[in-house]
Amino acid sequence: MRAMVLEAPGQPLCAREVPVPRPGPNQVLIRVRACGVCRTDLHIVDGELPRPSLPVIPGHEIVGTVVQKGEHVQGFSAGDRIGVPWLGATCGRCPYCQRGQENLCDEARFTGYTLDGGYAEYTVADQRYCFRLPTVYSDTEAAPLLCAGLIGYRSYQMVGEHIERLGIYGFGAAAHLVAQVAVHEGKRIYAFTRPGDTPAQEFARQLGATWAGDSTGLPPEKLDGAIIFAPVGSLVPAALSATTKGAIVVCAGIHMSDIPSFAYRLLWGERVVRSVANLTRRDGEEFLAIAPKVPVRTEVCIFTLGQANEALGCLRRGELRGAAVLTMSDQRGR
Ligand SMILES: [Zn+2]
Ligand SMILES: [Zn+2]
Repeated sequence: MRAMVLEAPGQPLCAREVPVPRPGPNQVLIRVRACGVCRTDLHIVDGELPRPSLPVIPGHEIVGTVVQKGEHVQGFSAGDRIGVPWLGATCGRCPYCQRGQENLCDEARFTGYTLDGGYAEYTVADQRYCFRLPTVYSDTEAAPLLCAGLIGYRSYQMVGEHIERLGIYGFGAAAHLVAQVAVHEGKRIYAFTRPGDTPAQEFARQLGATWAGDSTGLPPEKLDGAIIFAPVGSLVPAALSATTKGAIVVCAGIHMSDIPSFAYRLLWGERVVRSVANLTRRDGEEFLAIAPKVPVRTEVCIFTLGQANEALGCLRRGELRGAAVLTMSDQRGR
């Protein structure tokens, strides 16, 4: 099969012919139809996350069709559409797993990082961690729901239900999905982008943001909570400065540049800074049930498998509107 492989961090992915993997007892073999390109992929390729299982095939927003199943697989059959997320396996025994925090499992394995992912024509996945996908979404539309959507949704839940004014720092794939859920629930969205990124600000307004502006400035009103999707540590004190007392500032990315020191008064007033790590299967089930009801619409920029490096480059440079998705069909676009 064709695959785009990370052989060494800091280098472009290599187009390779590799054997089609065989499913283990709890795994399904999947013919990949589409795979989203997440900022985490960029962190892996750039060597910002430790110890990937090299060589590794990135990609953890996989939509495909089951073509073969292992002997213990019961949840899916050949021909079923399936979604594979970032959380690929957990131990089920550690204290985190036992208390419903499988996202924090000490021995968790992650798709496209410590397990091969979806930048390929085929992949295998443990079906116990996979999802059925709402039928209203095409393969390319469904792909970004699997990480951008899930992580966005988990982050949104961490900000607290009571909030009215929600700040979102970095208006990319995750932000554009969670903003739709928040607007649907009557929240007012304040979108912050790289300074001068007027297309992203316009995009945020089109999706219902009350206000959109540069991340270096303050919003016209204080925020009740904020989610930081951009991997920029200086946004933590910036977001704290923009919030009311009691606000929660959620850092949603897996990697962030160092957070500069800041005055204690920014944290005073029971403000909270917290991170969100990975996802649980429950997040996935909840979000995939909510998404078609809102309905969350995914805005995608489509690339072919062979254009994976180009897609990562566009993401790095902030040139995408919505989410990048690789399609494995020969035809580009829909
Ligand atoms: Zn565990
Ligand atoms: Zn991701």
